[in-house]
Amino acid sequence: AIQQDRDQLQQMVERRTASLRRAKEAAEDANNAKSQFLSTMSHEIRTPMNGMLGMIQLLENSPLQTQQREHIRVLHDATDALMETFDHVLQYGRLVEGAYVSSETHFSLQELLQNLVLLMTPGAEKKTLTISLSPAPELARCYFGAAGSLRQILTNLLANAIKFTDSGDVSLRCSLEGGSTSTQQLRFEVQDSGIGIAPELQHHIFDRFTQADESITRRFGGTGLGLAICKELAEALGGQIGLVSKEGQGSTFWLRIPLTVSDEQPSTASPLSASDPSARRHLLLVEDVEINQQVVIGLLGEQHRVTIASDGQQALQLCRQHRFETILMDMHLPGQSGLEVSESLRTDENGLNRQTPIIALTANIIHEDKQRCFDVGMNDFLSKPVTPAKLKSLLIKHVPSLENLIEADKPDDRAQRSDRS
Ligand code: ADP
Repeated sequence: AIQQDRDQLQQMVERRTASLRRAKEAAEDANNAKSQFLSTMSHEIRTPMNGMLGMIQLLENSPLQTQQREHIRVLHDATDALMETFDHVLQYGRLVEGAYVSSETHFSLQELLQNLVLLMTPGAEKKTLTISLSPAPELARCYFGAAGSLRQILTNLLANAIKFTDSGDVSLRCSLEGGSTSTQQLRFEVQDSGIGIAPELQHHIFDRFTQADESITRRFGGTGLGLAICKELAEALGGQIGLVSKEGQGSTFWLRIPLTVSDEQPSTASPLSASDPSARRHLLLVEDVEINQQVVIGLLGEQHRVTIASDGQQALQLCRQHRFETILMDMHLPGQSGLEVSESLRTDENGLNRQTPIIALTANIIHEDKQRCFDVGMNDFLSKPVTPAKLKSLLIKHVPSLENLIEADKPDDRAQRSDRS
């Protein structure tokens, strides 16, 4: 009887195991389908959005009547909001599949913070807020770590601080909390004088899709994913994130992370190092789609000389004749891919552009094999739609002398800048 019971039990366990395996496979299939769907959507939505945003930016820089300018401004705000929502949803989708942390680089933290504040300044000024930065005086010259993810967390926190503050100031502070000579514990604080957060909400503000009450959601929009992404990233970096807030008085979001001190040179040179603002820099844009060409030329064209190659062969030919300051390389080109063209440039012993920074333009970062791009010697990624802010920060990062030359977000800046130069 015992033998019989044991056999029966054995059969039952086998049946259960098989059915669990089937359920697991079905779940995995569904998950793969979801990822596939997300990356297809990402590509299909980003490509036309790129064109739309680009055209909006070109319109903003053209002569317009006051009312038309106002219409374009509303259109631009709505498009930005749509892109932000879309980015958050996609990014969260990626994070839950396994935290997506940017690759590790040797970087100057001081410079990362300065550039961040520089990028957030137009948004703060639009709301007449002051924005300030006080980094720890004792920061190391160079750190090694996932600079991109750190920048992303701080960008989200600063964007929220600006979004939820109507008057006063927003500040970014960085201090050293301890650690050893090789690894430091850093603390960042983003403080605002905004609407603050109710105590009962503070406990789950980092949960996904959490927002304050409906009136706030209606007024400010958003997805409630930004802070959930920050938390996932902070934990993936071995850190913690939290807040102190008082309703009606403001909030301070803090982030603690360990960073390795590096003896290397930061991979980005210091900004504002060179400057002859009257010199026009020469960029090569390798892009086959006309609307995308127009967008980049519209953003850079007046300050820079932009040469266009619409396929890889043309790009290689131009690179034999000129040394460019930067190359913006679309990944999906007819014939040779952006990856192949970059590889040829990097392996050409006597090539004029062997060292020129190459920035990959891509409609779908999820699809691209980032590591392969870095392996062939490309330097960075710029996701479409290309916006002035993103383009500006990448160009400053790779060609610091461009700092003073790049078109700012406000259309009126152009006139002021050309007066100066
Ligand atoms: P989103 O801003 O996209 O809705 P977040 O996850 O970034 O999503 O923020 C969640 C909620 O937390 C916001 O909707 C807002 O109610 C609140 N919040 C975040 N940052 C601040 C801040 N600095 N001041 C006041 N409320 C904030």
